[in-house]
Amino acid sequence: MSTATSTCLPKVVGADTVVPLLDGGEVAYANLDVAASAPALQAVADRIAEVLPWYASVHRGAGYLSQVSTALYESSRREVASFVGAREDDVAVITRNTTDSTNLLASVVPGRTLVFDVEHHANLLPWQRNAHDATVVAAEKTIEGTLGQIDDELSAGGYALLAVTGASNVTGEALPLDRVVALARRHGVRLFVDGAQLLAHRRLSLAETGVDYVAFSGHKLYAPFGAGALVGRRDWLDEGPAYLAGGGAVRHVAADDVAWAPAPARHEGGSPNVLGAVALATACEVLAGLDEDVVRRHEDELRERLLAGVAEIGGIEAPRLWEDSEGATATVTLSVAGADPGLLAAYLAAEHGIGVRDGRFCAHPLLERLGLPAGAIRASFGLGTTTDDVDRLLAGLRGWVEDGPRGTYEIVNGCWAAADDPRPLPLVTDGATLAATAAACSQLD
Ligand code: PMP
Repeated sequence: MSTATSTCLPKVVGADTVVPLLDGGEVAYANLDVAASAPALQAVADRIAEVLPWYASVHRGAGYLSQVSTALYESSRREVASFVGAREDDVAVITRNTTDSTNLLASVVPGRTLVFDVEHHANLLPWQRNAHDATVVAAEKTIEGTLGQIDDELSAGGYALLAVTGASNVTGEALPLDRVVALARRHGVRLFVDGAQLLAHRRLSLAETGVDYVAFSGHKLYAPFGAGALVGRRDWLDEGPAYLAGGGAVRHVAADDVAWAPAPARHEGGSPNVLGAVALATACEVLAGLDEDVVRRHEDELRERLLAGVAEIGGIEAPRLWEDSEGATATVTLSVAGADPGLLAAYLAAEHGIGVRDGRFCAHPLLERLGLPAGAIRASFGLGTTTDDVDRLLAGLRGWVEDGPRGTYEIVNGCWAAADDPRPLPLVTDGATLAATAAACSQLD
């Protein structure tokens, strides 16, 4: 069953994938882990299939297919820049993902960065490479308080950059961007927005908002082909050291000298990911054509349904970053009283065919401060999610609270897995087991 709004949303690949259950049954997969990696848009998969016969080297060949591929790569860059409302003189660097983009920007920032402890590690660790490069502030419990902290901290001076999340990967909340931009402007500091969890849900225009830089990942934007982007002001990117030294990043090399190319080539050494860029650009084009209100209504409906359902079950908390925040994207973290999050996630997968994330969501300082040092589970939605998916999660949670798991679970290499799991792993031909795979997943806590 679909929600009323979902019928006008674009199709994603794999929405009908059936998965095995521990008891030998089968069920359509309920993908409630879209914030980690979203399924591909059908339009993206179609476009990749269309481009593959034309695929050849980029920037390096006079052959006809190389020319086509180069043109596709560069037009993808323009589409990606336009998706985030880039200014005329901004630059769009095609990266691997958001982590790559933040590391790139961190390598060129000409000064200190201010960042809060609510961030994903990708928007925390790159700024902190050297202790003197960043200040990490524990955010206050209110938006007002946190904005006050920004004001106070920036008043102290010495900052080049303020880095904030566009939407938290733990709760979907964010600071009001217009007020953050105003604060950054007042103090003459540039603003970076981590758009990893934002751009699949809300539009952002650099030109209209005054945000200086944004980073995002294709795989969270329904374009899982290994590309991401950093878009923003050109000067730092032209002046900073080449991020990926190698072929393509230079104008001229002598044995004892290098003339680096300006951005974006300066930071894109090596053969570019043309298919990733095309996939990302296609997703950007599709998302740009959607009515943002329709997407928002679809996701709000799912979110409210989940929150109302867990309130009815009882014993389940949905933590928030700020007491006075308004609205959130399609991500809900749930802490179930007495439940080990890893065991709960394994049970939801094995007995209900539901995919959620568990652990500390690459946001350890935040989870610690939220009083969840052992982690939680996270449900996240997107274009392909239905009310049925949410109802199945609620039924699974109710089953857990009332009866507990039916199967037997054990810890394998520090991670919960169903004991004697008979479920096969399709497509994997080297004899890997589900238990070993689950243990590998736990390393991403
Ligand atoms: N920022 C946020 C808010 C995220 O959720 C993630 C991914 N979970 C990242 C950054 C890093 O994205 P990627 O793994 O694609 O580099």
